[in-house]
Amino acid sequence: MGCSSEGFAAALRAAAEVVAEHRTELIELDRAIGDGDHGENLSRGFTAIVSALETEVPATPGAVAKLAATTLISKVGGAAGPLYGTAFLRASAKLGDAAEIDVPLLLEALRAALEGVQARGKAVGGDATMVDALIPAVSAAEGAAAADASVAEVLAAAADAADRGAESTVDLVPRKGRASYLGERAVGHLDPGARSTALLLRAFAEAAR
Ligand code: ADP
Ligand code: MG
Ligand code: MG
Repeated sequence: MGCSSEGFAAALRAAAEVVAEHRTELIELDRAIGDGDHGENLSRGFTAIVSALETEVPATPGAVAKLAATTLISKVGGAAGPLYGTAFLRASAKLGDAAEIDVPLLLEALRAALEGVQARGKAVGGDATMVDALIPAVSAAEGAAAADASVAEVLAAAADAADRGAESTVDLVPRKGRASYLGERAVGHLDPGARSTALLLRAFAEAAR
């Protein structure tokens, strides 16, 4: 079964709760290798998304994604706001006017989100950013879909891979964003954006069950 606009709105509300629960953790991760605002940035952004959805849930999943994108871009500064905003905007373009997100559309949206983040931030795999969570997430989603998984199963596979991808940033020298200013001194630290990407995918996967 696919995911309707109401289903997607519920997934974003679940994501907002997860971001709020992990706000301090994300702040501490970013304090170690950045400027300590990642948890605050994301919680402000997702709180604003939840408020916008209270006014009205748009009619299609694509329009819900677009609302999330414009909210993140307008409400969240720094690197992550525009990057996540671009991810949702590119996903929204792929979702188009479809009434439901099915597995093929989910894959297109995930691929587009990754491409958007890379087009905007120019990070590649191994640069110790959110891209290190997203690349394996998209591959795992493709693998699960090829094995006939449901939307929820595809998202769970993506979230599992994103967890491992985020963990891989601990051993990497950051090459993009504020953490890159620290160079080798950032080795041993989990990238906050990779961690938040894994948390968001997990929240979506749980919401889709
Ligand atoms: P800022 O660094 O501006 O304070 P945040 O703290 O909200 O913004 O977000 C930091 C996260 O953004 C990093 O942990 C990293 O995952 C991600 N990031 C930063 N620059 C890039 C980039 N060029 N490409 C991909 N991700 C990036
Ligand atoms: Mg920061
Ligand atoms: Mg900042």
